[in-house]
Amino acid sequence: MKGNLEALMVMLGKTPKKPKEIVPTAQTIHLQKRAKKITKAEIAKIKLELQEVEDGKYSKKWRNRRWFSIIFINLMFTLSFWVDVQLFEGSIIASRVLGFHMADIYSSLQVVLAYKIMFINLIIGTVTVFVIWLLLGGRAFCSWVCPYHLLAEIAEKIHLKLAAKKWVTEHNFHRGVRTVFFVVFSLLAFGLGYSLFNSINPVGMISRALIYGPGIAMIWILILFLFEVFYSRRAWCRYVCPMGLTYGLTGALSPLQITYQLSNCQHETCCHIVCEVPHVLECVKKGRAGNVKIDIGTDCTLCGACVDVCPTGSLKFEIKGI
Ligand code: SF4
Ligand code: SF4
Repeated sequence: MKGNLEALMVMLGKTPKKPKEIVPTAQTIHLQKRAKKITKAEIAKIKLELQEVEDGKYSKKWRNRRWFSIIFINLMFTLSFWVDVQLFEGSIIASRVLGFHMADIYSSLQVVLAYKIMFINLIIGTVTVFVIWLLLGGRAFCSWVCPYHLLAEIAEKIHLKLAAKKWVTEHNFHRGVRTVFFVVFSLLAFGLGYSLFNSINPVGMISRALIYGPGIAMIWILILFLFEVFYSRRAWCRYVCPMGLTYGLTGALSPLQITYQLSNCQHETCCHIVCEVPHVLECVKKGRAGNVKIDIGTDCTLCGACVDVCPTGSLKFEIKGI
C-alpha cells in the first residue's frame, strides 16, 4: 500500500532509510545483482542513458498527456465564464462542475478554521473532491490539474539550464518545513479569523487570473517564479504548499499508483533525475528494495516521468485490484 506508515512519515519530512527487513526473494535478487559483473559496454550504455535524461532526451508521452489535462481543465473554467455556459463555474479552488460542488480540501479547512462555520455546499464540495482524489491518486491533482504545477515545471526547466551553465546554484531546504507550514497556516487561520493561506495561494491566484483576467496578485506569482528559477527549484510545491500535502494524505489509500519491480531494474536511477519528489524513489537504489514489488509512496504526484524514462520498464502505473 502506497500509504504505509513509513511512506507517510517520509512525506511529512523523514529521510527515507534502508528497510529493516528484506524479503528472501528480494534478497536473492540483490545478491544475484551484486555477483553479476558489469561490462564496460554496459557501464557506457548506462552513462549514455543518464546523460540523455539530463539533456531532456527521453519520451515525453506522460508529460504531454498531463500538460493537455492541465490546460484543458483550466481552459474549461475560462471558456465557461466567457461563453457563459455554466459548465465549470468558479475556480479550481471552489467550483461547481457540471452541477457538482467541488472545494479544495485544505482551502476548505482554512475557511472552517478561520470563520468557524461549516455550510452544506462546502461539506458536499470537500467530500466530493476527497472521494475523487482518493480514487485518482491524491497528488495526481498536482501534476494533472494544478495550474501552478505547469508554471513550476517551466521555472524548473529554466533553472536547470542556468544551473548547467553554472549561472545559478540549487538551494535545498528540509522537506519537513512543508509540514510545519501546514500547521502554521492552520493555526494562523484559527487564531486570526482570516485565511492568510488562501490570500497567498498561487493555485487560486493563477486559476482566478486565467478566468477573470490578471491583477496585482500576479506580482506574487512572478516573485515565486523568479525564486524558483534563480534560487530553489520547485520551492513552493516541495517546501510550502499544504494543498500538496493534503492531496498526498488523501491518496494514501488510493488504488491508482506507481509500482516498482525490482527484478529488471539496472539501478542507474534515471528516474531520480526527472522526479519532483525523488525521496519516494529511494527503493530503486541498489540494495534498497525490501520486496520484489513496491508501491511508490503517497507523495508521488503520478506525473509518469519515471515511467517515461525507465529503460527497463521497472516503474509502471497500476490500479490495485485490476
Ligand atoms: S504542491 Fe500545491 S502548488 Fe504544487 S502542484 Fe500541488 S497543489 Fe499545486
Ligand atoms: S515517482 Fe514517478 S510518477 Fe511519482 S512523482 Fe516521481 S517521477 Fe512522477
